[in-house]
Amino acid sequence: MSFRNRLIEAGRLVPLGTPGLYGRDGTFEAVAAGLEALITQLGAGERTETLRLPPGMSMAAFARTGYMRNFPQLAGTVHCFCGDERAHRQLVRQLECSEDWTAEQRASEVALVPASCYPVYGLVAARGPLPEGGAVVDVAAWCFRHEPSDDPMRQQMFRMREYVRLGTPDQAIGYRNAWVERGQAMARRLGLNSAVDIANDPFFGRAGRVLASGQRDQALKLELLIPVGDDQEQGACMSFNAHRDSFGHSWGLRTADGAVAHTACVGFGIERLTLALFSQHGLDPADWPPPVRAALHL
Ligand code: AMP
Ligand code: ZN
Repeated sequence: MSFRNRLIEAGRLVPLGTPGLYGRDGTFEAVAAGLEALITQLGAGERTETLRLPPGMSMAAFARTGYMRNFPQLAGTVHCFCGDERAHRQLVRQLECSEDWTAEQRASEVALVPASCYPVYGLVAARGPLPEGGAVVDVAAWCFRHEPSDDPMRQQMFRMREYVRLGTPDQAIGYRNAWVERGQAMARRLGLNSAVDIANDPFFGRAGRVLASGQRDQALKLELLIPVGDDQEQGACMSFNAHRDSFGHSWGLRTADGAVAHTACVGFGIERLTLALFSQHGLDPADWPPPVRAALHL
């Protein structure tokens, strides 16, 4: 039986009728909560502020992130019915006839968060120059990406935990690189085989291919890969991203001495890490090696 079907049969994932959308059971959530706590513990070294976000961000902030320029194929915006009574009568008729009823849906002022760090840059920039030493933000959100798939590792709605570093060039890249080491140590502690490799984001179109190869050439994006599932395919479970001064420029972020700030982020895919644990150690955490259970407070 496929890994996906085993997860569903055991109840860990509950398919919700469209590819990449699942409910999770209590066992899945206990592992996810253990991972969240472990990530908090490993990030406790730096002075960090915590921010927990809803799955939506303002359309205005979203438009400024550059996401529609780079990844329009993945983005989701919330659309709502804004018609009058006549339009509503038509809507009800269409629903009753199983016709397309979405024509009157209009863009609202909310976009779905595509990566949990995106809302952070504007929020921090609005405070004025960074303090001496810069800032570290521990952020998490449910994220949306329109990449429907039957692979449980590729969901449309999933949790992304991130640490975002804002400061000087050395602070940003130093933080990113420190987390490459920490991320690997975390995987070892969880009994997961892992490898770090250079990666690129799925930039859209022909111009996007140039951006992707530039990102690779400069090793701006690294990923922690863990073999998961039937074919033990390498799944990217964490990413370590250097943005240099691109967000600094677009949001007007400044360091304490007035220079354009550099930023970096490390992202943890909570669903993918949880699935990697189920793939590696089995679907029942009661059977997992005691040190792994202990690391996750299970
Ligand atoms: P990225 O911003 O693409 O580097 O994503 C950060 C992390 O989020 C990745 O390393 C994955 O663990 C996780 N992630 C990204 N896309 C998905 C997806 N479609 N389903 C589940 N997890 C994802
Ligand atoms: Zn990020």
